[in-house]
Amino acid sequence: MTKDKRDSKEIAAVKGTKDILPEEVGQWQAVEAAGRRVFELYGYRELRAPIIEPTELFEKGTGQTSDIVIKEMYTFTDKGGRSITLRPEYTPSVVRAILEHRLYLQPDPLRFYYMGPMFRYDKPQKGRYRQFHQVDIEVFGEKDAAIDAEIVEMADRLLRELGVAGTEILVNSVGCRACRPAYLKELRNRAAAVKDRLCDDCKRKAETNPLRIFDCKVEGCKEAAAGFPAITDHLCAECSGHFAEFKSGLDLYGLAHEVEPRLVRGIDYYTKTTFEVVASSLGAQSAVLGGGRYDDMMKDFGGPDLCGIGFAMGVERLLAVAGLKPEKKPFAYLAYMGGAAKKPGMELARRLRAAGVECLIEYKDKGLKAQLGRASKLGAAWVVIIGEEEVRKGLCAVKSMATGEQRDASPDDVVKIIRG
Ligand code: AMP
Repeated sequence: MTKDKRDSKEIAAVKGTKDILPEEVGQWQAVEAAGRRVFELYGYRELRAPIIEPTELFEKGTGQTSDIVIKEMYTFTDKGGRSITLRPEYTPSVVRAILEHRLYLQPDPLRFYYMGPMFRYDKPQKGRYRQFHQVDIEVFGEKDAAIDAEIVEMADRLLRELGVAGTEILVNSVGCRACRPAYLKELRNRAAAVKDRLCDDCKRKAETNPLRIFDCKVEGCKEAAAGFPAITDHLCAECSGHFAEFKSGLDLYGLAHEVEPRLVRGIDYYTKTTFEVVASSLGAQSAVLGGGRYDDMMKDFGGPDLCGIGFAMGVERLLAVAGLKPEKKPFAYLAYMGGAAKKPGMELARRLRAAGVECLIEYKDKGLKAQLGRASKLGAAWVVIIGEEEVRKGLCAVKSMATGEQRDASPDDVVKIIRG
């Protein structure tokens, strides 16, 4: 390759990342607007944390045995020699922010939402990207299983508002520090007995955290894990009571759900409730959203003993199943003709925008026919025509592109006509 050819090679987006182009962005904005509206109905407020965090935040929060921490973090050393990670998930950042700002000392409920990019160095495939986007909510200090049911109902409301159909709610309880150790011991014995059938990754998991074997997608591991005992049969009285309350809350809201004892989710911190909303139409990466409880996390970070629960929804997957067709907003195309009409045209466009009318001027000395052609191609609802003759008379012409009707009007009337 010659130097010139090398230099002119197109630079593409990083593997596993995507541009969200203007033609798609309306759907993203619709999801974000619906998210804000729904979450605020339930008393949640937005908390925006940085995209970069100290690496140890995720090592400690997300957990040393999760695939996210072991294999998927985007970690680098900054110029000051600090280990920094592009956040792979949001929960640890919220916990850090609550502790750093002592938000638990304020009277406001600890209910937060956030929307933004997350980063995981995973193998890109349909529904799995290296930069993806989550809509995330977190609640702290609510032990009662009623909140577990309420957040699933809130997620369901958002999905219905976005036109998502054909989803299923899967629920489980992964126990707590009282009941899980005995279950893990049994699981470790069972995993050891079938070690030969497990992939290398799961052989390691069998020793570090055998729960993680349930996350493995390798057929042999799935078959081996199918014979493992179910955690729901090993819950302590408190966890099984909490799980029963959670399910009865879902019944109250009329939300059909299925207990899936293998739903442990890929993160170490979960206690008691875990859940996912899945859409089989998505194929292998079927979870639209997932979440659960993390009652020990705040305490483990040295903070107060405040339990937590939350979920994260993947926006890319959500859009793949949402029935969103955002409407195109009507706008006016302002066509000025001739140099003397340019400044009055600019001024009129400013008035239209000040009155809340979207107005586009393209500063390219073109004739009326060409400009009408552009306006029609772009889907303008109106064309406002201002020529030298109109300037002299203090008028302009407004053409409705829907009816073809055109009339002369003063600048004040143009605004009135267009606003209807
Ligand atoms: P998690 O944070 O792993 O519990 O994931 C929550 C949700 O984020 C999932 O249900 C997906 O919708 C979405 N998600 C997780 N990882 C990815 C990824 N690599 N690419 C796209 N979406 C993802």
